[in-house]
Amino acid sequence: MAKLAINGGTPAVTAHFPHFNTFDEAEKQAVNRVLDSGVLSDYVGAWCDQFYGGAEVRSFERACAARFGVKHAITVNSWTSGLICAVGALDIEPGDEILVSPWTMCATATAILVWNAIPVFVDIERDTFNMDPEKIAARITPKTKAIVVPDIFGHAGKMREILAVARQHGLKVIEDAAQAPGAMYQGKKVGTLGDIGGFSLNYHKHIHTGEGGIIVTDDDTLAERMQLIRNHAEAIVAARPDLPMNNMIGFNFRLGEMEAAIGKAQLLKLDAILARRRWEAEALLDGLQGLDGLRLPRALEGCTHDYYILGLQLSEALQKSVGKHKIVQALKAEGIPAVADRYVNVHRYPMYTKRMAYGRGGYPFNLASPQALSSYGDGACPVAEHLQDHAYMGLVLCLHHYSEEAVQQIGNAFHKVWENLRELA
Ligand SMILES: *Cc1c(COP(=O)(O)O)cnc(C)c1O
Repeated sequence: MAKLAINGGTPAVTAHFPHFNTFDEAEKQAVNRVLDSGVLSDYVGAWCDQFYGGAEVRSFERACAARFGVKHAITVNSWTSGLICAVGALDIEPGDEILVSPWTMCATATAILVWNAIPVFVDIERDTFNMDPEKIAARITPKTKAIVVPDIFGHAGKMREILAVARQHGLKVIEDAAQAPGAMYQGKKVGTLGDIGGFSLNYHKHIHTGEGGIIVTDDDTLAERMQLIRNHAEAIVAARPDLPMNNMIGFNFRLGEMEAAIGKAQLLKLDAILARRRWEAEALLDGLQGLDGLRLPRALEGCTHDYYILGLQLSEALQKSVGKHKIVQALKAEGIPAVADRYVNVHRYPMYTKRMAYGRGGYPFNLASPQALSSYGDGACPVAEHLQDHAYMGLVLCLHHYSEEAVQQIGNAFHKVWENLRELA
């Protein structure tokens, strides 16, 4: 039996893992086109034609609307900004409650707090790592107005069930599809299943512009409110007395022309990028067959997976006999890059457990219902906590390119570690 690298043996993985980079002549030409024009942004924060941005921004937005099959695509300078626009566009009051998953990037929840509304965490299920539709009803109070649903790791949540609960209780749905552009859910495009959805164009995402985001919606009123919040709403409402003024607090969330031009080139590559990523993930999954106590991710019936992260789960027996930290350390020592032993438990962040966000007086948590506050801290979301502390480990596929050789060696490394589990225990 080969000696584990963590115990001084030879690492199983020798392949090179280039950083994920999909830029070529297309993006260079896009950047040069904008530089040559001398116009790096063509927005004006006043009610005029340029309120909607420059030629590249609008052209990219048209391309996004066509690609995702929506009436409105609205670009922003990050998807965090997009989430803030989306929550602000809803008809919510300070102290209203919005349901969100704890297994997501922190901004999914922070966008709610920005409007002085209260994030209320709903635990996740283990098939997709997304919000568990069966746990939603118990968190709903008279103050609940909306649900923000992430499609984490690149796979949709159980949207049919989630949308049914939302409809039953009159809640709006915002879909955080940052990690799942181009993924499908039962014949529909992920990100377009709720009232508002969107994607991140941050450096780590499937397609990117360094920083950026795309909001999508079919709703004219919501689209207009998000365009206003993106671009100094409070300066525009005087010229538009027809608009409701609630939450028309504006920001500068405008995407630059150069980023928009890059985005357009990247969007044309999305399908090819996803096809390659799926090949990598499926080849890796083939190599991980037959490992006792390792639960592999799979796309649900009628769905496709974008494999932003390949989320793995260890059986109770393996958690007890070896523990995931030792297994992950051993895999790292074998030379696997980007193997992670945690993701995120947002509901355990100090901002929530200490109930301190704006100032020192507990605002806006002092407006929250006891049910909302009971969704914070240890014990509030047991599945997410068990995954974080004991069961979850992931291959963070978004960071590197994986060659055939690399994929093969990673499979070998897992099998080597599994053959030596007794030694690790
Ligand atoms: C990346 C990400 C965000 C934030 O997007 P940015 O463009 O980096 O602001 C939000 N939610 C999820 C699930 C993400 O992965």
